[in-house]
Amino acid sequence: MWCKFIKFVREKTQNHIIMYGKFQSYLQQELKAIDEAGLYKRERTICSPQGAEITLEDGSKALNFCANNYLGLSDNPRLVAAAKKAMDERGYGMSSVRFICGKQDLHRELEKAVSDYFHTDDTILYAACFDANGGVFEPLLTAEDAIISDSLNHASIIDGVRLCKAVRYRYANADMAELEKCLQDAQAQRFRIIVTDGVFSMDGNVAPMDKICELAEKYDALVMVDESHSAGVVGKHGRGVAELYDLYGRIDIHTGTLGKSFGGAVGGFTTGRQEIIDMLRQRSRPYLFSNSLPPMICAAGIETFKILSESDELHDRQQENVAYFREKMIAAGFDIKPTQSAICAVMLYDAPLSQKFAAAMAEEGIFVTGFYYPVVPKGQARIRVQISAAHRTEHLDRAITAFIKVGKELGVI
Ligand SMILES: *Cc1c(COP(=O)(O)O)cnc(C)c1O
Repeated sequence: MWCKFIKFVREKTQNHIIMYGKFQSYLQQELKAIDEAGLYKRERTICSPQGAEITLEDGSKALNFCANNYLGLSDNPRLVAAAKKAMDERGYGMSSVRFICGKQDLHRELEKAVSDYFHTDDTILYAACFDANGGVFEPLLTAEDAIISDSLNHASIIDGVRLCKAVRYRYANADMAELEKCLQDAQAQRFRIIVTDGVFSMDGNVAPMDKICELAEKYDALVMVDESHSAGVVGKHGRGVAELYDLYGRIDIHTGTLGKSFGGAVGGFTTGRQEIIDMLRQRSRPYLFSNSLPPMICAAGIETFKILSESDELHDRQQENVAYFREKMIAAGFDIKPTQSAICAVMLYDAPLSQKFAAAMAEEGIFVTGFYYPVVPKGQARIRVQISAAHRTEHLDRAITAFIKVGKELGVI
């Protein structure tokens, strides 16, 4: 009996191994193809806090120009202290979702701080902006409605749209004539929503929100903007696209992340009109079925918005750094996209060159990222540089010097 059972299990295991064998060789081939196409993503290991200067596993140091650390808050001592204090007082995790176990006062305080920052009615927190975007459309819209989306919107918006039954329209990046055409075509639907990134991550351009709002009003549509790369960056005080274009009260939904300008840990939010936020609390699946943010993240988030309400120092420094970097790079002969954010695209137009360039910069101790098709259009390969308030002039100068050296070596300038 026992022997028979062992034999049975062995056969089952054997069958399973044969099955996995087929799947395994399929995966191995796919991975090899990714690698041969030069698209295999390899990761560095950092052994220091995130910041302008980082230490790697082998003890070497490098300057970081590819983090979303726009306000330099990733290693801010006030945020670290706030997180530690919350951990001492409120423990480590929430071990539940909000509708079952409730929230801490810290969650509501952070939601209030986000609403104050963006001048909105209310805010709902998520584990990430990926979840905020994934959970925003399906609870609000049905097959009777229309979503009109910029073609360069973030992957999480694209996924969120896929989860919703609304009719989909797409317009070329920031193309207002195409948007108008979509709005005309979508007049048969019950409700329409236009959705766009605030700042697009590859060119660093800002969505033309003033024109988007005008068209929305002309064609009776709601407006949603993802502020992940715009919050903390654009606008007089860095408060995003509503401040930049003076559109307070005319944008219905903003989504955003705590993972970029706002401390760089994790967490996302949707902020906007009261009934929209109320409905998301009832029906948004990533909110209902995923854990609440840990208290330390909320406390550090509250401290972030406190820092930003006290002074514009970080935002001002970031803007000065962007201007300084751009000016010196253009003077050196580089072709830089006309950025309106903290993202500077140094155009190379050639895919292998972009990889060679980024690798040579790493040799010089400067981390920047080379992007090429399919991340950017064919023939639009570039180096993306992300400027932070954490960079000192000396850091910017070292990066510019390295750019000039590598640029000359590779015949770019
Ligand atoms: C980074 C980013 C996200 C994802 O944010 P997470 O909080 O890291 O999930 C969403 N949208 C845009 C536009 C982003 O740039």
